[in-house]
Amino acid sequence: MIISMRLHAPQAEIDQVCDRIREFGYKVHSIQGEERVVIGAVGVGDVTACLESLEAMPGVEKAMRISAPYKFVSREFRKEKSRIRVNGHDIGGDEFIMMAGPCSVESEAQIMETAEAVSRSGAQMLRGGAFKPRTSPYDFQGMEVEGLKLLRQAGQATGLGIITEIMSDRDAELVAEYADVLQVGARNMQNFALLKTLGGCGKPVLLKRGMSSTIRELLMSAEYVVAHGNPNVILCERGIRTFETETRNTCDITAVAVLNELTHLPVVLDPSHATGRRSLVPALSRAAVAIGADGLLVEVHPHPEKAVSDGAQSLTCEQFDGMMRDLKPLIALWKAGRPGFRC
Ligand code: PEP
Ligand code: MN
Repeated sequence: MIISMRLHAPQAEIDQVCDRIREFGYKVHSIQGEERVVIGAVGVGDVTACLESLEAMPGVEKAMRISAPYKFVSREFRKEKSRIRVNGHDIGGDEFIMMAGPCSVESEAQIMETAEAVSRSGAQMLRGGAFKPRTSPYDFQGMEVEGLKLLRQAGQATGLGIITEIMSDRDAELVAEYADVLQVGARNMQNFALLKTLGGCGKPVLLKRGMSSTIRELLMSAEYVVAHGNPNVILCERGIRTFETETRNTCDITAVAVLNELTHLPVVLDPSHATGRRSLVPALSRAAVAIGADGLLVEVHPHPEKAVSDGAQSLTCEQFDGMMRDLKPLIALWKAGRPGFRC
């Protein structure tokens, strides 16, 4: 059950509601939002009687049963799409959001050149990894704090918002100081200690689908962040592992539409990791717009042949610019809310 309290309900009313829930044998989990408290009740008990009793209590706006195992992120809990404000743009709103940049931050020249290029092409956000999850411990691990500083410098110079990966709960304060959105990579989608910490990090989180994770598991991970106090979660489909070897991963494009049915959270697509090949990125990006994604996370590098990571799937700045021009008419249809373009 979820119990939504009225705006600015006094603490005494909240306490009474929590006591009543406990009397019915449920455990209480309350979330202090900016304006209102939402209380989650989990356990086994007489749901109908409990809901009836709660609805009659002072301070209660709405008490409802939610059948999905993920509660706060479900469409049952919230019908309208969540909008997440980042650096003057609404993700999940009326603007199709482009997040673009290199896989890894490599140098001042590289990140500045990329930031200026993607900004000119119309991107709203700059991506770049400062902490890199690499399969081999001998591969480049990221510039860490130096990388974060360069991202901030590039963001300030261009006005782009910054999204960068966080790999450990120990880095939460540090990364939150420099980034507008904290990215949880596919390999950390079920790092529950990290997810819990991000519930209190004060910044929006972009949660990537694990390469062997179901849609339901992705939503349960998002629920961790929200249940720990942070409602600002963006989901990202980035391809999953299948028997297919032509592409780095198999893009579950349908996941975007499925997620749009199941959750109110914004959903973006990463066509770079989903394919592993730059030649496929524009086609998949078109598909993402058409199926109703809220944005794209795309790898772009001024010299992909010299990139320290993911060069093969990175667009050059010129290719990104061309793709942005080609996407314009599709994004216009998306904005107009044509069936199939918006959920
Ligand atoms: C990345 O965005 O560079 C990355 C490592 O992505 P993923 O976690 O999807 O593999
Ligand atoms: Mn990458």
